[in-house]
Amino acid sequence: MGLWLLGTSGAVPDGRRDYVGLVVEAADGLILIEAGGSPLHRLRRMGLDPMRLRGIFLSHRHPDHLSGLPGLLMGLWLLRRADLLWIAGPEDALERARALLDLFEWRSWAGMFPVDWRPIPPEPDSLVEASGFVRLLATPVVHSVPTLALRIELPEGTAAYSADTEPCPAMARLSRGVEVLIHEATGAYPGHTPPEGAGRIAREAGARRLILVHLPPEVDGEAWIARARETFEGPVEIGWDGMRAL
Ligand SMILES: [Zn+2]
Ligand SMILES: [Zn+2]
Repeated sequence: MGLWLLGTSGAVPDGRRDYVGLVVEAADGLILIEAGGSPLHRLRRMGLDPMRLRGIFLSHRHPDHLSGLPGLLMGLWLLRRADLLWIAGPEDALERARALLDLFEWRSWAGMFPVDWRPIPPEPDSLVEASGFVRLLATPVVHSVPTLALRIELPEGTAAYSADTEPCPAMARLSRGVEVLIHEATGAYPGHTPPEGAGRIAREAGARRLILVHLPPEVDGEAWIARARETFEGPVEIGWDGMRAL
């Protein structure tokens, strides 16, 4: 049980990192956060049974966050999944996801399992999911398209995931007091965050630890950590694919 990093790269993967993604493992099943690349391959590589997936959260519509959705759904269909699967995210992202699936005529796949589309309003602390084991809250952040960050509450502790964003007060608020802040650190580009910006948000939030993700190709991890430490005194780690976050 816990929270794992499935991938840690930004829009340009390298030989060690695939597109950013996380998986929540709770007693009542798995929740996938982002669906870039090949989620089935990555779940199986980590020894997680994809048939335990209950839902998928898509933070926004960019290809590094949802391009793997058709392959994932096709794989689950071929594995004869029958249970309903929910897919949540900004309406804008869900529209693109449906258009992508329509390209593959997924509605004609015989015996396809039901999908519950859950558009999440662009308002602070919007409830995405609540079960006895996990609670997910979303908040809009600052990116080039509508994007939602997530607060992830589990029996093991509480984490927050920034998705793609500039450093913003909404993210500091969403991650107040978390045990671990998983923040993007793409670099100093519009709509993204440099490592010292991620450190600043961790400090403002009072996060206990910081993990940097959505990393540029061949990132110099030590340099990225040193830059985040300029603004955050707590432990800083560079994320890696397969890492346990909580
Ligand atoms: Zn991205
Ligand atoms: Zn993006």
